[in-house]
Amino acid sequence: MKFGTKLVHEQAIDQQTGALSIPIYQVSTYHQADIDNPPEFDYSRSGNPTRKALEEIAAKLEGGDKAFAFASGMAATSSVLSIFSAGDHIVICEDVYGGTFRISNGLFRRLGVEITFVDAGKTEEIKKAVKANTKAIFLETPSNPLLKITDLKAAIGFAKEKDLLVIVDNTFMSPYLQRPLELGADIVIHSATKFIGGHSDVVGGLVVVKGKDLAHKVYYVQNGFGAILGPQDCWLLMRGLKTLKIRMDVQQKNAEKLAQWLLEQPEVEQVFYPGLPDHPGRSVHLSQADGPGAVLSFKTRTVEQARNWMKNVKLAAVAVSLGGVETIASYPVKMSHASMPLKERERLGITDNLIRVSLGIEEFDDLTEDFGRAFRNE
Ligand SMILES: *Cc1c(COP(=O)(O)O)cnc(C)c1O
Repeated sequence: MKFGTKLVHEQAIDQQTGALSIPIYQVSTYHQADIDNPPEFDYSRSGNPTRKALEEIAAKLEGGDKAFAFASGMAATSSVLSIFSAGDHIVICEDVYGGTFRISNGLFRRLGVEITFVDAGKTEEIKKAVKANTKAIFLETPSNPLLKITDLKAAIGFAKEKDLLVIVDNTFMSPYLQRPLELGADIVIHSATKFIGGHSDVVGGLVVVKGKDLAHKVYYVQNGFGAILGPQDCWLLMRGLKTLKIRMDVQQKNAEKLAQWLLEQPEVEQVFYPGLPDHPGRSVHLSQADGPGAVLSFKTRTVEQARNWMKNVKLAAVAVSLGGVETIASYPVKMSHASMPLKERERLGITDNLIRVSLGIEEFDDLTEDFGRAFRNE
């Protein structure tokens, strides 16, 4: 069955009534008719039928064995990192999501987990960073905000030789465009706040794992640490998932066309998008993903042009986040990367003429009319 059909037909329906959506089981506890035989659900931190339905469809879509829903993408990431112990070493790509950078550097380092950040665009750099106590490699591709590509197959091949876990934050691609578990990764993380929810109305996270051992470890943290997603938000994510493919198709088409259009604008100096023919990671990306996605970045020739554009633009929300049906423009130096030291930002190429755009489902001609006007300061 193809992905778009799975999205609609592999979600559970309510067995009792035939209802085409699993009800929102707004409940904390469950009557136990026979105390010697505990029922499947006994307390909603440990399990909830609405959450279970979301977790089952998430596991199917990523090609994993088990999935877990969390209160946010960061709750998902923190819970995954909590399966490691003091003295373990993890190699993380240096342009990982800002929140992941913050907790791995600030919180998990304090708890004794060793972390090394590397330029994962170069597989050699990953190899060089691995030590005797290395337990995992944490990757994110394409990266944020410059859409750099990591060669997943090369990194996973190397990790297998060394018996290391590979964790991939797959938020930018969604399971429709990239399924790292099928390439041999062990754990996939999503900020479901983005493309999976898709409507800028819910914060949530998902973890999908391969194998019983990892499923057991992540469940232990989900149930014990307790950063679970509530039933209402689980329902919203299942509803969002039904239209993931059609949203992504339109958003990606808009991104492909916008990348071309931006290249033709006199105010634009450079465009970063894996769909462009001269993007350095394009061939690697297209060998591991089914499309370039719906997020791109560009640099204007002057800082003033970038600031003016952000001030004038009407058909993009100027905001953090991405993946919604509405186009969202963000300004990394003041938003996602504001806490990164200037020197580090400059080394990575995150400059103050850089704008990131997550394309929505608007009609393309309306976007370019508005964006052109915003450049011309009209
Ligand atoms: C937003 C985001 C996160 C964090 O997710 P939240 O739902 O905001 O906690 C993690 N990784 C990536 C790539 C993201 O874009």
